[in-house]
Amino acid sequence: TTPGGNRAREEKIVVTVRLRPLNKREQSSKDHMSWECIDEHTIVYKSNPNERVPQPTSFTFDKVFGPQCSTEIVYEDGVKTVALSALMGINATIFAYGQTSSGKTYTMRGITEKAVNDIYSHIMNTPERDFKIKISGLEIYNENVKDLLNSDSGRTLKLLDDPEKGTVVEKLVEETANDDQHLRHLIQICDAQRQVGETALNDTSSRSHQIIRLTIESTLRESPDCVRSYIASLNFVDLAGSERASQTNAEGARLREGCHINLSLMTLTTVIRKLRSLSIPRPKEETLSRHSILGPNGLRGQWQPPSNHKVVQYPSNLDFSPLHIPRDNSIQQ
Ligand code: ADP
Ligand code: MG
Repeated sequence: TTPGGNRAREEKIVVTVRLRPLNKREQSSKDHMSWECIDEHTIVYKSNPNERVPQPTSFTFDKVFGPQCSTEIVYEDGVKTVALSALMGINATIFAYGQTSSGKTYTMRGITEKAVNDIYSHIMNTPERDFKIKISGLEIYNENVKDLLNSDSGRTLKLLDDPEKGTVVEKLVEETANDDQHLRHLIQICDAQRQVGETALNDTSSRSHQIIRLTIESTLRESPDCVRSYIASLNFVDLAGSERASQTNAEGARLREGCHINLSLMTLTTVIRKLRSLSIPRPKEETLSRHSILGPNGLRGQWQPPSNHKVVQYPSNLDFSPLHIPRDNSIQQ
């Protein structure tokens, strides 16, 4: 498969960049593309003569996509393997990070749609397993959590620590999807709820984070003790605009929003750094039905697999609870 796909199979974190084309306004004001893809992995900043940026400034990523690349290509080459790993019990999260108007929502919506298509194709082609898909959607604005699947969505939800599941959002609606049509409909409700907020509060979308979470559970039909079962969540995260408060001349409420965004994006950076630095030993022969990247209990999770599962022992000096990688005949190692 593609480099992005292969790396997604092996790496804990894969970073890709998408450059969007100039929009009409930018074209008419004779803006130029500041960035250019020079190969599959590298983008270069093309400063204009008035800027005092030493050129060329280049950055390397797992994969870069130029303005001519369709969402289809971005999905196939950069996301698909990660998204489909959730069908095999591996938690996966896809983040869109960037400045307001850089194309996060555009890309995430396209990617979510393609992932849903692939998930249901996989389900059709895997008659030996029973699948159950649940969805929840939430928006975080100024550190307040709002349910995107609840019409009474003006309410702010509380975060609770659950001994079994870790950090949970109290009373967050979780709907079970009957089929792909139903799931698409529920995703549309989340997007529409977000748009309601946008109009009411002067485009809050660029200052809020949106998370759509699919929980994908499957069991082997022939296996009465359910040992060979998987459960994992697949998160689609459309982050708030990453622009710095100082760049937007923000004051008052806008500045407060900016502080919250910067704090949460900084915390996310810390979490991603920690995850990247973890060296995770892969289990060899064991079969597990559940796994987690952070552990369902957040840091140092206390979740225990059911008693009919073998447990892999990990070194105790890990910062986070380990990534349990399930083994099953359906996974090619
Ligand atoms: P963000 O969510 O990062 O603020 P949006 O996704 O809303 O940005 O994108 C801003 C505008 O640019 C939208 O009108 C969107 O349709 C358009 N756009 C974004 N990415 C692309 C793309 N790859 N191709 C064409 N139009 C795009
Ligand atoms: Mg957006």
